[in-house]
Amino acid sequence: MYIARILYPVEVLGPGKRIGIWFCGCPRRCKGCSNPELWEFQERYKVDIETVKKLINQICSQNSVDGFTLTGGDPLYQFKDFRLLVDYLSYISEDILVYTGYTLAELQGKNLDHVAVLIDGEYIEERNNGAILRGSDNQQIHILNERLRDKYEHYLSTATNQIQNFATVDGYVSVGIHNKDFKF
Ligand code: SF4
Repeated sequence: MYIARILYPVEVLGPGKRIGIWFCGCPRRCKGCSNPELWEFQERYKVDIETVKKLINQICSQNSVDGFTLTGGDPLYQFKDFRLLVDYLSYISEDILVYTGYTLAELQGKNLDHVAVLIDGEYIEERNNGAILRGSDNQQIHILNERLRDKYEHYLSTATNQIQNFATVDGYVSVGIHNKDFKF
C-alpha cells in the first residue's frame, strides 16, 4: 500500500486527538487540491500493512487516541488495503473518519463497514466556503455509525476549521481545511 504520512495528534480533522493517515495516490486531480504532492502513487511511500500497524500501535501504546482520520490522496483508490486497514483500526477505535473524492452514491455496493463517517465528493475550489471539515460545500458528511451521531453533530455545530503544522521528514506539513487562498 501507499501511505505518505501518519501524524498524531491531529486535532483539526474530527473530534479529539486523532491519528491522521494520508494515503498516497489520487488520479482525480481536483483544481486547487491542498495535497497535490500526493497525487502520484510514489514508490518511496510504498509500505506493507504490517509496518503501518506497528506504527499505529506505537502511537496508541503511548498516547490516548480518540479516533482515526483517513485522507490523502484518496484512500478508496487502494480499496483492498484500505479495507484491511479499516478492519484493523476498528479494534482500536470505532471513530474512523474517511475522506474520499468518490460520492457515497458511487460507492454503492462497496464494503464500508467500520467507516463511521464518510466525507465524500471531489473538491470544487469555487465552492470552498469554510464549511466545517469540508474542502468545498458540495462534499457531504455522512454519519454512518449511529452510535457516533450525537458526538459528531455536537462537534459539527461547535467546531471551526483550524490549521495545524507538523514537522515531518519532508518538511513542514500544514494540516486542516484550508481556505481557497491558501498558498504553499
Ligand atoms: S479527491 Fe481530494 S486528494 Fe484527490 S485531487 Fe481531489 S482534493 Fe485532491
